[in-house]
Parts: sequence; structure tokens; C-alpha cells
Amino acid sequence: MTEAVRPQPTTTAEDEVVDLCRDLIRIDTSNYGDGSGPGERAAAEYVAEKLAEVGLEPKIYESERGRASTVVRIEGTDRSRPGLLIHGHLDVVPANAADWTYDPFAGEVADDCVWGRGAVDMKDMDAMVLAVLRDRVRTGRLPSRDIVLAFVADEEAGGLFGARHLVNNHADLFEGVSEGIGEVGGFSFTVNDDLRLYLVETAQKGMDWMRLIVDGTAGHGSMIAKDNAITELAEAVARVGRHKFPIRVTKTVRAFLDEISDALGIELDPDDIESTIERLGPIASIIGATIRNTAQPTMLNAGYKVNVIPGQATAHLDGRFLPGFEDEFHAELDAVLGPRVRRETVHTDQALETGFDGALVEAMSAALRAHDPAARAVPYCLSGGTDAKSFADLGIRCFGFAPLKLPADLDFAGMFHGVDERVPVDGLKFGVRVLDHFLDNA
Ligand SMILES: [Zn+2]
Repeated sequence: MTEAVRPQPTTTAEDEVVDLCRDLIRIDTSNYGDGSGPGERAAAEYVAEKLAEVGLEPKIYESERGRASTVVRIEGTDRSRPGLLIHGHLDVVPANAADWTYDPFAGEVADDCVWGRGAVDMKDMDAMVLAVLRDRVRTGRLPSRDIVLAFVADEEAGGLFGARHLVNNHADLFEGVSEGIGEVGGFSFTVNDDLRLYLVETAQKGMDWMRLIVDGTAGHGSMIAKDNAITELAEAVARVGRHKFPIRVTKTVRAFLDEISDALGIELDPDDIESTIERLGPIASIIGATIRNTAQPTMLNAGYKVNVIPGQATAHLDGRFLPGFEDEFHAELDAVLGPRVRRETVHTDQALETGFDGALVEAMSAALRAHDPAARAVPYCLSGGTDAKSFADLGIRCFGFAPLKLPADLDFAGMFHGVDERVPVDGLKFGVRVLDHFLDNA
């Protein structure tokens, strides 16, 4: 390292967070899920370099060629306390540049936002964490607990080459770590000028991606077919696609509904939760999927010639189950699919749920209130999944807390994997202040 590239001591986290975020967006880490993308190696090296610049000694772990994660432990001032994990993924979902206002991998700043693939999922948080920890190390403000930073590969395809690889093969990196924070939580939902709810993720649904198979009798398309695999499969897929699983209110969703109905002054009708949720407006889509199990048909495949009846037809379902309702999900699904359909699991991972209590939650709430007097932190359940599923296997209590103060009119949920993904510059700077404050008390 030369003196010329050493950051000036006057550089603050707020100063550099935007540039860090833009740099990360410019490194294309598209994850196609089939190993064909560019991988995360360049981004992992960039992160390692930024950490090394302030004197830390990060290490890069490769699961497969080019699939790289960067991990560093920052020793706290009180080694008797359990460690805190802060994790972020380096990969992004692909983007079709023709659909975008700005090149998704250019990291443009326009209209007071940083634009690009990963701007909210989740190179924003990666940049915030880098900026805050670089600043704290530079200025000697070390947190009291050990902090383990993990910038990982492959979250967007289930984490096998990232978080799951680290947990299965390098668990020692996380020794003594009791709690963790990561993505999809801590963002604001504006009720009015005096009240902004910040949704902290304390639960997430489990996933079961599966293949459905129907075997039939192959034959000539001109003849009478008694046992057409396509017909049988199509009927089963239509049944499950239209099926509504029963409403199941978990403790997290109950707590969220109580908070939100209180904040909005809406009476919750326990006998008609669905129509009550409809009245919640823009956040209805966020929580609508967390009151029941779901199974969505997403792929269909059969046949190879118009006059040939194929011997087999297949489909894929994206199944999501609530914490505590996995067995019910499978039993009900099989009843809907019927006896002709075979079901094979392609990828499955657990549901998670923890309480909204304890010192770490207090530290999140206090940090949000300190930088937004209108803030109220509330727990919520994520309908999707994150790398927390892997880290939870090490006994780490995981939260989604990547703080962002958002404009009331921004469709934040629509930004995830969406076209014109962008994050407000002010939101990034707010997040930096909140994370820094949080680490004072975490
Ligand atoms: Zn993500």
C-alpha cells in the first residue's frame, strides 16, 4: 500500500459510503444460479482491499473457482462478550440493461439516488458496513464485542457456494458469535410525519423448491390416449395454483399486525384478517404472503413433438412455509396434488423465528430513534429467505437490520430484483449513522 491510496484521516463513513456502493455496483456479480455468471471473486477482492487499507487482515474463501467470500474478525474491547456477525451478500440477480433508465452496472447517481443492480439488494448494506467499520477502525472506536464481517457469495441462488459453504467448512470463523444482523430489515414505512415504522426482520418463511412429475403412457398423437401425462399434470398444477392455504398467524405476524393497526388506527378483525390487511395499502403485499403457506407453479415442461404424446410431464413449484407449519404444508400440498403426482425436493431450507426482545433489539431501536425522532421499530416476518438460514445452524440469532430511511413514495418492495433498482443517497448516509450508533450499544 502506498501513502497515496491511504484514506485521509478526515474521511468519514458518510463521505465514502456512496462511492463504496457505486464501486460495488460496477463490479458485475450477476448470479444466474447455474454457475455461468462472473462470480464474486472481484467483489470479494475489492472488499478485502478496503478492509486491509485500514489495517485489518481479511481472508478470501473460495468454494468453487470464482465463487468467493471475504471474512474478517475485528476484535472487540471486551473479549468476554459473545461476538456479533454482520453479513451481506456480494452477488446480485441478473439485469436486462435494455429495460433500465441507466446502465444497471454503471453505478450512476441521479435524482439523489444511486442506481444499479444491487442498490438495495444488497450492495447498499455492504457499502454501509464497510464505511462504518473502516471509520471505526481508523479512529480507534472499536466495538465492545468481537465483530465478524462476512461478505458472501451466492445468496441469490440459495447460498451453497457462500454462506452455506462457510458454515459447513469454516465454522471456526464464527466461534463465540451469538447474534447476527443482515439484509431485508430496518427500512422505513412512513405512516405520517410524526411516525415512521422501521421493519426489523425477526422471522422468515422456509422454502421448498420442488419438481412435480407425472408419468403416463407415451404414444401417437392421433390416437386415443387413456393416460396422458400432460393432462394429468396440468390439472394438478392448476389445482395447486388456485389453492389457498389456511391463514396461520405466527407470533411475529401477530406482533406486526398489532403494531401496524395501532399505528394506522385500524381495528383488526381477527375473523377477517385478510380484508383488514387489504386496507393497509402499499404494505399489504409485504405481509399478505406471511399469513399463510404458499406454493406457486413457476415452470412447466413436457413433450418434444406435436404428434407425440410424451411419457412424462414435469413442473416446478416454489413452496414457502411459515415457521412451525412445515408438516402441515406438505400434508396439505400432497392432498391437493393427488396420487398421480410425484414430488421431489430440489432445494429446501428452514423457516426462522426469534423474539423481538433483548439488548440487541434495544440497541436497534435506540439507534433508529437517535437519528429519526419519528422512528418506531417493529418486528416483521419476511416472505422470502436470506443467508440467515445458514448462519442460524451455528446457533446464531439472526435479525434483518440494514437501516434505511426511505421517501414515503418509493416502492421499496418493488426495488428488490426490480427494474431501475436504486437507493436514496440520504438513505445510505442515514444508514451509516444508525449502524455506527448501533455498534456503540450492540
Ligand atoms: Zn438480498
